[in-house]
Amino acid sequence: GTEAEAQTPPGLLTAKTVVITGAGRGIGRDMARAMALSGATVVVADVDLGSAQETAGLLPGTGHLGVACDVTSEESVSALADAATEAAGGIDVWVNNAGITRDRVMRKMSVEDFTAVLQVHVLGAWLGTRAASARMRERGGGSIVNMSSISGKVGNPGQTNYSAAKAGIVGLTKAAAKEVARHGVRVNAIQPGLIDTDMTRAMPPDVLQEKIGEVPLGRIGTVRDVAHAALFLASDLSAYITGTVIEVSGGRHI
Ligand code: NAD
Repeated sequence: GTEAEAQTPPGLLTAKTVVITGAGRGIGRDMARAMALSGATVVVADVDLGSAQETAGLLPGTGHLGVACDVTSEESVSALADAATEAAGGIDVWVNNAGITRDRVMRKMSVEDFTAVLQVHVLGAWLGTRAASARMRERGGGSIVNMSSISGKVGNPGQTNYSAAKAGIVGLTKAAAKEVARHGVRVNAIQPGLIDTDMTRAMPPDVLQEKIGEVPLGRIGTVRDVAHAALFLASDLSAYITGTVIEVSGGRHI
């Protein structure tokens, strides 16, 4: 981590069960770490079972589980919800984090590039939100966190598919929040900006430095910065917050 990075508070999620999709690596893996550090039992889901099991094995504490799940499949998401309920007795928190990119200018983007990205993000988050809220309402409530992106707010060239998908997640979050609020289920979204991941490490160093120079807080974000926003939304600290979007962008949000 960096000097500016906060310590993860212990105990915020004691005795809670958290499901995180796309948690085999990257931001999802670190969210799993932060939630486990804060006391949660984590069900780590990924389309790649090996990486999900690896993440589960890295987490502090016991009872964590790695599960294969393709978020674009109704059956697979439903099976994940069943597995989490069986293994841990119920779902308190569900994070729709799985994501893909297929960056290309529109002129070179195929319909397949467009629909594949929409399927994972929008259909995936919708299937997850539907399955999770159905389980949560049976036990009086829960918190759902959806991963959007600053791209969904400002639009990025080369990402017409991804920007549309990430904006779609915001609409889905707000509509679902209103539908399920009376059952005690909250639904919120996170919009990360420039975060230190494999994606940003693959950028030419001068391009990355220029982008970091545009961040008002003066540094690139860490995966833990994103995980801490998710932890807040997952926990009862955000009990009166639903249908909102938190930007984790160091102030570079326009
Ligand atoms: P990543 O590519 O490192 O990890 C994504 C994970 O999702 C992988 O483990 C992958 O196997 C899994 N996945 C892909 N398709 C799946 C499917 N159909 N079903 C289940 N799992 C699937 O990505 P990341 O950088 O960690 O990003 C995580 C989330 O945060 C994504 O939603 C991404 O769009 C969003 N985000 C990332 C950044 C960033 O800077 N990296 C910025 C804004 C938003």
